[in-house]
Amino acid sequence: MGGKQPDEATPAVSGKDTGARRVLRAFRPEGTRVRAGEVEVGGPGFVVMAGPCAVEGTDQVEKTAAAVAAAGAHVLRGGVFKPRTSPYAFQGMGEPGLHLLAEAGRKHGLPVISEVMDSAQIPFMAEAADILQVGARNMQNFSLLRALGKVRRPVLLKRGLSATLQEWLLAAEYILEGGNEQVMLCERGIRTFETEMRNTLDLAAVAWAKQRTHLPVIVDPSHATGHPDLILPMSLAAAAAGADGLLIEVHPRPEQALCDGNQALTPERFQSLMQRLSPVLDAVGRHLWRPDSPAQVVRAR
Ligand code: PEP
Ligand code: MN
Repeated sequence: MGGKQPDEATPAVSGKDTGARRVLRAFRPEGTRVRAGEVEVGGPGFVVMAGPCAVEGTDQVEKTAAAVAAAGAHVLRGGVFKPRTSPYAFQGMGEPGLHLLAEAGRKHGLPVISEVMDSAQIPFMAEAADILQVGARNMQNFSLLRALGKVRRPVLLKRGLSATLQEWLLAAEYILEGGNEQVMLCERGIRTFETEMRNTLDLAAVAWAKQRTHLPVIVDPSHATGHPDLILPMSLAAAAAGADGLLIEVHPRPEQALCDGNQALTPERFQSLMQRLSPVLDAVGRHLWRPDSPAQVVRAR
């Protein structure tokens, strides 16, 4: 295929007018590029964010960072405030974990992404994390969204467990309306009648969001499926559907993980996923992000 990306080649799908404005593609037809450190999301380069569900300690985060960096990941993920269904489950390391994550990211040259659960966490999270994640359970926490509109840090907004596409867009609209236009959407599966999967990955939503909005779209195949065996095929499908990147859970010893170990990839499986992505990206006119990608060179001039 030529250099044109699917979103550039396809006219925006028609949509209901529910009041979204700033997120619509017509608002910025050329598309938004989000910057996290050196990394750019939303251009021709496809960005892979990987790391543990939760930061558990120095050794675990360091081993994971080393492994995902060696495999070619671009951003290190790691939760330190975990929205757990049970109050008795591991809730995350909190602020000390954030510093371990940031330190591991620095050491391996990776910007870091971590979830912010509450507006009160924003000041120190924005200081240490390069991207602030809004979890599915907080997609409609409007006071959090408004507060993130005032921050000069990119935000990755996960789709709510049962959120319609319009609700997802309008949640993003809150952040843009507040003045922060560095927003990425993240499809992480929705709740349906299906019980084999943790969630149901809505890939049509990815293509839809790329057409309807100018925001980069990331796919999280880990929470979308809950099965390590399905993460590779769904990652390839996401790349083919026009996603701008992936968010994947990796743990050096999944069986010992304190959170979501049953869906974590081992470093070996993650490495093989990275290798399998390239031909699919090539087929749709994309490539794994690299510092010397043409967009970088143009901007540097
Ligand atoms: C996570 O990324 O670990 C997480 C809690 O995701 P979600 O909000 O999509 O459930
Ligand atoms: Mn998780």
